[in-house]
Amino acid sequence: MELDENLLRFMFLCGDLKKVKRKGWVERGIPNVESVADHSHRMAIFALLLGTKTKANRNRCIMMALVHDLAECLVGDITPSDGVSKEEKHSREKSAMRHITDMVPCKEMRDEIMDLWEEYESGVSLEAQLVKDIDKFEMIAQAYQYERESGVRGKLQDFFDSTEDKFRTDSIRKWSTSLRNIRDKND
Ligand code: ZN
Repeated sequence: MELDENLLRFMFLCGDLKKVKRKGWVERGIPNVESVADHSHRMAIFALLLGTKTKANRNRCIMMALVHDLAECLVGDITPSDGVSKEEKHSREKSAMRHITDMVPCKEMRDEIMDLWEEYESGVSLEAQLVKDIDKFEMIAQAYQYERESGVRGKLQDFFDSTEDKFRTDSIRKWSTSLRNIRDKND
């Protein structure tokens, strides 16, 4: 694929994700919070760690993790505190994704990115369920990391409470249980 003005604009929009702060942490007054790009990058690494034994297509999970929050470079990180309905959030993000992918000159690539995002949003395939679980797991891993860095134990307990029964896949549920056990032991 040739690099033209449009593709460069797409690249710049992806770069803007580095500037979108994860709002859940900002609202809690955490200093120097991670960006959406940081979060997506570590999710891709977690998907890589699933290994090849999983029934899921690991490469698809990695790609899905990379694009799952791409719309946020335009619509921002919408959280429950914004009072935006699930349907409205989805529709804002969908039109943002159309706008963003339109800048990719190659139709095949444009469709692939859009398909990955739609698959994630619908949450039906095994890969989408895994990546949705990884999304929550990455958040509690980050919550625990912030707790350890700040030295304030239990500071972000609500992130653990709100995700406790939300994991749908065995592999990530196990990671979640182990993380909670390690956290409890160190409390
Ligand atoms: Zn995410």
